[in-house]
Amino acid sequence: MNILVTGGAGYIGSHTCVELLNSNHSVVIVDNLINSKVESIEKIERITGKKIIFYEKDVTNEEAVDKIFNNHKFDGVIHFAGLKAVGESVSKPLDYYYNNLVSTMILSKACIKYNVNKFVFSSSATVYGENKVPFVETMKLLKTTNPYGETKAMSERILTDTSLANVDFSVALLRYFNPVGAHESGLIGEAPNGIPNNLMPYITKVAKGELKKLSIFGDDYDTVDGTGVRDYIHVVDLAIGHVKAIEKLDNGVNIYNLGTGKGVSVLEIVNAFKEENDIDIPYEIVERRPGDIASSYADVEKAKKELNWEAKKGIKEMVKDSWRFEKNYSI
Ligand code: NAD
Ligand code: UDP
Repeated sequence: MNILVTGGAGYIGSHTCVELLNSNHSVVIVDNLINSKVESIEKIERITGKKIIFYEKDVTNEEAVDKIFNNHKFDGVIHFAGLKAVGESVSKPLDYYYNNLVSTMILSKACIKYNVNKFVFSSSATVYGENKVPFVETMKLLKTTNPYGETKAMSERILTDTSLANVDFSVALLRYFNPVGAHESGLIGEAPNGIPNNLMPYITKVAKGELKKLSIFGDDYDTVDGTGVRDYIHVVDLAIGHVKAIEKLDNGVNIYNLGTGKGVSVLEIVNAFKEENDIDIPYEIVERRPGDIASSYADVEKAKKELNWEAKKGIKEMVKDSWRFEKNYSI
């Protein structure tokens, strides 16, 4: 297939392009580089030995998107492009609603116009809100705690309605749990600008000595050791999930959780990182972070059954690969 990947220079997008190319699909990337660097395109080409067509464009620009669709015949779109910092979405809600919703609408419109019938969307486990774990695709969605989460729930709705109105337009809504890790080459990985908000990139910065210590947000949750529990998934497993999803997609609206099905606590991650990489991670316990829930992990049966996909890599690989990338990066 010839696939348009929006946000393909970013963290999950770049790993997905590698797996698409490794599965003999061809890839066109569009990214405005607002949260990534052009070098990642060349790194994807280095890892795979294959060429990519790259457009440095904003996917909220309807004219630019139309031109790209006009220049190529796509079989499908994987839409990663979006703003994703939860805290920033609270202070800049309009930027988030505009970027994340307008992009989804413009791309869907172009798909309908150019008869591109497969659309894979990056959703998030955050749409489950405070449902009971494990989260199952059939659950009624509860209110999310921030504008970022709302953009995911609203984009799911926009794509669902668009598919209902256009029978040939099929959609996969992929609800990611907590992506971590990096490609084993150490060439691509997660490289957030500024001080990281997420746990794993924060830990790797502490390991590197760029940040003094980790703050653990609460140890009084109703979990195995009181710290928050999440379903961490290696980004390469997640990337392979996208290849399976777009290859299988042929009608309607299809929702899949992409996680491991296992909950792991913050302290368990910290300890695994210390042990596998032999580096101390100083930490202190601080107040709970507003908006956090105690536990989030996936029911993974549907993806297993319908996509023949399941996550293979465990916590050890996640902490090792995250650290390898952080060490290589910026050298
Ligand atoms: P990322 O920031 O590394 O990648 C997103 C890419 O999209 C970046 O390269 C950015 O430059 C680009 N982009 C943003 N707005 C754009 C626009 N208007 N036009 C063109 N390019 C644009 O983030 P990521 O972690 O790779 O996330 C990819 C997708 O997955 C996002 O939609 C995110 O919300 C979603 N997601 C991420 C996580 C996570 O924990 N990383 C979890 C659930 C869902
Ligand atoms: N967390 C933490 N300290 C940090 C960042 C995160 O203790 O500096 C905890 C957070 O409270 C949650 C888990 O780590 O329990 C995962 O948080 P992250 O922000 O990575 O992902 P989320 O699940 O919130 O999207």
